[in-house]
Formats: sequence, structure tokens, C-alpha cells
Amino acid sequence: MFSRVCLIHYHEIGLKGKNRSTFEHQLIQNLKHGLRAFDLAGVDRISGHVRIRVKNGDCTPELARAAAKIPGVARVSLAYCVEQDKDQICEAAVLALSHIPHFLTFKVHAHKSSTNFELHTLEINCLVGEALCKAFPDKKVQMHKPDVQLDVQVVNNVAYVYAVVEQSLLAAGYGALDFEAFDDNAVLSLVGVGGLPVGSAGKVVTLLSSGFDSPVATWMVGRRGAVCIPLHFSGRPQTADTSEYLTRQIVSALDPTGCIGRLYVCPFGDQQREISLCVPQSLRIICYRRIMFAVAEKLALAEGAKSLVTGESLGQVASQTLDNIAAVNEMVSLPVLRPLIGSDKQEIIKRSLQIGTYDISSKPSPDCCTLFMPRRPETHAKLDAVHAAWDSFDHAAMIDELFDHIEYIDYDSCYAYHSCSAKRAYHRELGR
Ligand code: ATP
Ligand code: MG
Repeated sequence: MFSRVCLIHYHEIGLKGKNRSTFEHQLIQNLKHGLRAFDLAGVDRISGHVRIRVKNGDCTPELARAAAKIPGVARVSLAYCVEQDKDQICEAAVLALSHIPHFLTFKVHAHKSSTNFELHTLEINCLVGEALCKAFPDKKVQMHKPDVQLDVQVVNNVAYVYAVVEQSLLAAGYGALDFEAFDDNAVLSLVGVGGLPVGSAGKVVTLLSSGFDSPVATWMVGRRGAVCIPLHFSGRPQTADTSEYLTRQIVSALDPTGCIGRLYVCPFGDQQREISLCVPQSLRIICYRRIMFAVAEKLALAEGAKSLVTGESLGQVASQTLDNIAAVNEMVSLPVLRPLIGSDKQEIIKRSLQIGTYDISSKPSPDCCTLFMPRRPETHAKLDAVHAAWDSFDHAAMIDELFDHIEYIDYDSCYAYHSCSAKRAYHRELGR
């Protein structure tokens, strides 16, 4: 049996021109960190790919699955690593296809970035194709959309061999593009999450509730390379800490992406009560949100984050009309990213199922937003009325007090956050 390694393929990083090596370096660091539970022997760059090797010689489907969740990874191939020898390449190709049940058509696709192997890619295609036709006489060669493509990658002093299974075959026969449908020795290519390596796009503070939307919004900006620092406002001490517990579970569910370094929690119950006593009912939510944005911006500045992120979707609830978004947005000067603004709830829920936050978000929990909710919230707030309500309590002191009592929990899955100097500066500033 041949040893198995993982090859990481990336799309967007490959388009990065002069910055490409910075992105590749970040991806390699993130892979090393994200896969640290596996006994890694090396993560290195080989001719437009990243190769992962483990100490006992064999990468596993679990490792490939974990790598597929790391932003920047477009595809992961668990591949046989063989010598640059015609017989070995053919033997590995036959073995690779013998682990794929139910396919009818195939083709061979060879790539070559090494000059010391005597065959050209077309010759490799023919050689391996012949061996496969002999081993699988009832299967047909098909150039356009075959059920399986057998890839042979000739690089440096070795060759990598793996199968790329057509999505529709998987959908029809197995339901999902995963190793579960295959036996443990299969060598396959999995679709990864894509995007860019975390740490390549700077830092953001994401406003995280335990609902469906904001975990998905956080994941989306994390996938685009942002280090995410979620901030959750809980109803404590006016409510139990259920929402905090659920938010921690959400952060743990996003752990495999490595996009979250620290979760901040801001107990907001007492201040919400204070607001509810002096602000007209219909404007309560807008005032809560203005406070939340102001605290989030203060945190962003202290953390060196360059933008805020919310899970807002246009018109979803009263606070997400254009008028109300404007009434809250005027509190901050940092850009506010709203990756879900044009998404329907069904799309958001589908994504939450994929990223593993759906079950957690389905659980009911009283958080700061359900506390002291008005019966009829304003849907089209007038700025004059908002400003009058806002000035009816000491908002500046409230923002400072909330910020001073903010709590946090560190998560060690985000390499870029914990290797970042801005965080150390913040520690000094707060004397922590
Ligand atoms: P979600 O939008 O996450 O599903 P939700 O539907 O309970 O939660 P909305 O009323 O839609 O909340 O709030 C809009 C956005 O405001 C959320 O997506 C989130 O970014 C932010 N937000 C709401 N509640 C909180 C909270 N308790 N802590 C931090 N941010 C919050
Ligand atoms: Mg929402």
C-alpha cells in the first residue's frame, strides 16, 4: 500500500500576483495550527499547492475533512504518494479507482511540474488510461464530464495520484461529497470552503447573538480572511446566562475555521432596564442598538479592528428597515459590514446547517434583545425623535461603564489573533 498525503489546492490565492507568498505563508501557518491535533510531519509548498504530511506516514480522511473547513482551502486531495516510476503510478491509479464504487466513466488528467520524469502529460494520460482500461474492462473512457477523474500530479521527485469524483454522481448515489461513502483507504478530492486565509484581511468585531444570522455572518467574513472578535450582549443580571452559554457553543462550532480568537461578553441587562424606563417604547430597540454599536466600536478601536459586522438582513425585523439601520449606523464611524443584507432566511438557515450552528441557534434563550421588548417597535424612526430619546439618559457614561465591565474568553484556534501585536497593546491598555 502506498502512503497517503494531503494536497491543498487554492484558487483565489493563486490569483494574488506579488502578494501571493504572503497569502500562502498565512495559509500554511493556519493549516499547521488548525491541524495541530494530528501528528504533522510537515506542511510545505510544492508547485502551487500545499502538501501536508503526518509522522506515521498516512494522512487520514479526518485530516482531509478538517483541512477542508479552513478558509483559503478550495480543495483537499488525499493522494497516494508514489515514486516517479511508470509501474508504480499505474498501480496507484488502479488502486485509487478500485475504492470508488458504482462509477461508469472515467478519464485521466496528468499535470507535470517536474522536469526529471521522462514522460509528457499526454503520454502519462495514455499510459495510465491503458492500465485502467485493462483493470476495469467494463468502464468507459469519457473526456467530457466523466463520473471520476483520475489525477496524476508529477512534482519534484514524486507523483501524487487521487480521484476526483463528479458531484452529481455523489449527489445521486451517496448524498454528500465526503469520505463517508467510501472505504477508509480511498484517495479522493474534497471541496473546501474556499475564500482566503484568516489573518489576510485584518480584524473585525462581530456583533454575535445566539440567533441564526450573526453566526453565519461571522463565518462569512472569517471565510474572507478576517480575524473575528465576536461581542455578545447578554441580559445578565436581569436574565439567566443561557444566551452566553449558547454563544460559547457557537464559537466552539466555528472553531474548525480558526477565525475566532476571543469572545467578548457584555452584561447589558441593568442598562437595558434603565433605557426602558426613560425612552419611549417604540424607540427602545434603536437605543439598545445604538449603545451596542458604540461599545462595539470602542472595542474595535482597542483591538485594532477595522470594522464591525452584523447579521442584519434588510427588512427582516423592525430594526432592520433602512430608516432604522441609518438611525443606528450614525453612532459609529467605522464601516459596518452586513454580509447577509440581501439574504433570505432560508438561505441563512441552510448555511447555518452547513457550518454546524443551526442546532445551537434553534434553542430558545432570553438575551438582551428579548428583554424589555416593546410591543410596537418603530419601523421608520425619525432622527429627531431618536436624538431626543437618546439624550434622555446619560448614554456616554453608560457606554463607558459597559466597556469597563466587558468580559472575555480566549479560544486558541485562531493563529492570526494570538500572534498579533495589536492584542498585546490592548492588554497593556486595560492592564490585564
Ligand atoms: P441573529 O440576527 O443573529 O439571528 P437575532 O435575529 O436575535 O439574531 P436581530 O434582531 O436580527 O437578532 O439583530 C440584528 C443583528 O444585531 C444580529 O444579527 C447581531 O449582529 C446583532 N445582535 C442582536 N442581538 C445581539 C446581541 N445580544 N449581542 C450582540 N449582537 C446582537
Ligand atoms: Mg436576525
